[in-house]
Amino acid sequence: MKINFVDIQKQYVLHQDEFDSAIKKVMIKGDFILGEELINFEKEFAKFCNAKYCIGVASGTDGLFIALKVLGIKPGDEVITAANTFIATALAITMVGATPVFVDMDPQSYNIDPQQIEGKITKKTKAIIPVHLYGQPADMDIILKIAKKYKLKILEDACQAHGAIYKQQRVGSIGDIAVFSFYPGKNIGAFGDGGAIVTNNKKLADKIVFLRNWGGKIKYHHEIKGINSRLDTIQAAVLRVKLRYLEEWNKKRKEHADYYTKALSGLASITVPKELSNVIPVYHLYVIQTTQRDALLDYLRKKDISVGIHYPIPIHLQKAYKDLGYKKGDFPETEKYAKKILSLPMYPELTEKEIDYIALSIKEFFNQ
Ligand SMILES: *Cc1c(COP(=O)(O)O)cnc(C)c1O
Repeated sequence: MKINFVDIQKQYVLHQDEFDSAIKKVMIKGDFILGEELINFEKEFAKFCNAKYCIGVASGTDGLFIALKVLGIKPGDEVITAANTFIATALAITMVGATPVFVDMDPQSYNIDPQQIEGKITKKTKAIIPVHLYGQPADMDIILKIAKKYKLKILEDACQAHGAIYKQQRVGSIGDIAVFSFYPGKNIGAFGDGGAIVTNNKKLADKIVFLRNWGGKIKYHHEIKGINSRLDTIQAAVLRVKLRYLEEWNKKRKEHADYYTKALSGLASITVPKELSNVIPVYHLYVIQTTQRDALLDYLRKKDISVGIHYPIPIHLQKAYKDLGYKKGDFPETEKYAKKILSLPMYPELTEKEIDYIALSIKEFFNQ
């Protein structure tokens, strides 16, 4: 049995007529940039997030960059974020000229350890970027409290968490501003790159509309220095189709996660993901831990089961961030987990039969 890590084509085949007609509509109308489908999608996605405003941008990375820009983050500032995130979170901070300051992870939630944030705050600290990693909401209450105490902005990196719920609130509407990615493999993905910024703050929303469009709203009238970073109308049309299924898909991911957890919980050599109380995660990834990670990874790949590591090299040990001067041992939990984590196949179309096969193969590996 061959099992993919994600299976994007399956969604297309299942809803082909809807996708084809949505794309065709845009082709016929020809409003490829800032068109009607984009405006509609922005309204619908804002509503989905329980937020007032949504502005489509070209990618999650651009979204994080633009969000930091409108929050006023500039060279010399420091921004606190998780040591164990995808590198784009840190890159956006350096793109505005600020310095990323990492905080180690909490081993229970895989998210930023809120207890270690205060110790990293200096006079230069301007914002915190909690990342809702793997679709599991970060511990926002403590982060909100710290942000209020030190007058810091909160930018939620919700690129892996479309629809996740923290204490009855959708992520994306908890901090000052939030960013989502529509990279094809995300819980809701475009047929290419895409992203969105979500906020309840009208001033920020207005500024983003300018920033993503060379600093102006009216052609050839530029109020500020902006960039070109818009979500294509065609991608918005695709995303509108997918948004209709997102809740159902997220529910299936959660069911698959529960099924995995049940199937694997008897194995002493494996740690399954823990769910914190008061949150509903959306399982962008289902990540287990084992000290025999590399051997298990090889074994599963040989059996045609695609698995991944998110992420194998922590950002502070990446060549690209040599200049920050971090060294091995600076973030012990993150470094320890990078050697133990393994992401199993996870997507709504996965079947119980496939999960049974994956679980059986893992048990086989451990000779049980
Ligand atoms: C995917 C992702 C991004 C970047 O999004 P792109 O659309 O690929 O630019 C940023 N942060 C996290 C946590 C992500 O998973």
